[in-house]
Amino acid sequence: MRDAVWLGRCPAYDEGTLFPQINSAFESLGVYDSLKPGMAVVLKPNLIQASKPAAAICTHPAFTAAVGRCVKRAGAHVLIAESPGGPYTPALMKAIYRTCGYTDMAEACGFQLYTACKSRQVPLPQGQRCRQVSILEPFFQRDFLIDLPKLKTHGMVGYSGAVKNMFGAVPGLQKPEVHCRFPQQEDFSKALVDICQYLSPDLAVMDGIWAMEGDGPTGGTRREAGLLGASPSPYALDVCVSQLIGFPPGSLAMLGESARRGLGPASAQEVEVLGQPPAGLGDFKKAKAASTDFVDKLPAPLRPLAKKLSTPWPQIQKGCVGCGKCAESCPKQAITMAAGRAKIDYGACIRCFCCHEMCPQHVVGVRRLGLFRW
Ligand code: SF4
Ligand code: SF4
Repeated sequence: MRDAVWLGRCPAYDEGTLFPQINSAFESLGVYDSLKPGMAVVLKPNLIQASKPAAAICTHPAFTAAVGRCVKRAGAHVLIAESPGGPYTPALMKAIYRTCGYTDMAEACGFQLYTACKSRQVPLPQGQRCRQVSILEPFFQRDFLIDLPKLKTHGMVGYSGAVKNMFGAVPGLQKPEVHCRFPQQEDFSKALVDICQYLSPDLAVMDGIWAMEGDGPTGGTRREAGLLGASPSPYALDVCVSQLIGFPPGSLAMLGESARRGLGPASAQEVEVLGQPPAGLGDFKKAKAASTDFVDKLPAPLRPLAKKLSTPWPQIQKGCVGCGKCAESCPKQAITMAAGRAKIDYGACIRCFCCHEMCPQHVVGVRRLGLFRW
């Protein structure tokens, strides 16, 4: 049977437009048939760092509120659980919820926010790269899991949607450890599929109203795409949305891998599309660090050298305030603070771009040789 993906338009985050659209997605996909009164439903938004909703870095609180209201309509309980990219402690998590607009929203809607910050290490029996990882405790106790990704470009894996969002179930500073175990983009993409396959969300609903293009997932530009997407399959949703924004799913290692394993489709042509997506999104700007497409078009003997030369590197730019967030998230401890400024040891750096993602000042740039700049 073909996977179903619902795509819809929503120009703004007002409840009057959002709630009917999400409700329509739930009805079209038969979600209300699966939700039962008293169920424990976990919502997993993308709250990668403390940032205001207008920055388009995190899943918007009004969007999460609309999804949660649909869940409550079915009589189920809503728990919001997430871990950011840096240290994972109750105090920091509460601060992130507050800055991202989730504290007031959860109180107004009667949702619970997970702040105990407990996790457990588990084996991933079907894992093909990652066979063991820590996962936040609420993911083991849920009756139903809803993946709430923000549509963004991504420096390391190209595109950040429903599959990548499940990586947030790995607690804070254990994420850089996974980067460290799988420094190559292809291996890391396979590890992301391992984690998503293990967590197996029951539904994914994507916030693409204010998306991010360019140097995502935190340093790009807001793009008012007005897009909503939903599917019981995170893989099918990503295939449809990536194609819609001009990133062929076959060019994304993560989606190539999920198709190879038979978890999702290889192209949007294999999907039953419901609803009506917005038009004119096919020119999303890529993240600088992710643009290496041309290497695959070269003759095979030239590819290793071209890949080596074209691999970009992180560079600390003007405006560093010495906060140390980049050093906290570096899996190789390649960043030290000198004279109130971050300094990178390029001999140790594995080009994972966690520092680029986590810098709140957006001053970790992505550099590449002039020959490979486009
Ligand atoms: S580069 Fe960014 S994260 Fe690192 S110390 Fe400077 S301001 Fe902080
Ligand atoms: S310096 Fe930045 S890119 Fe290099 S390993 Fe550390 S976090 Fe990754």
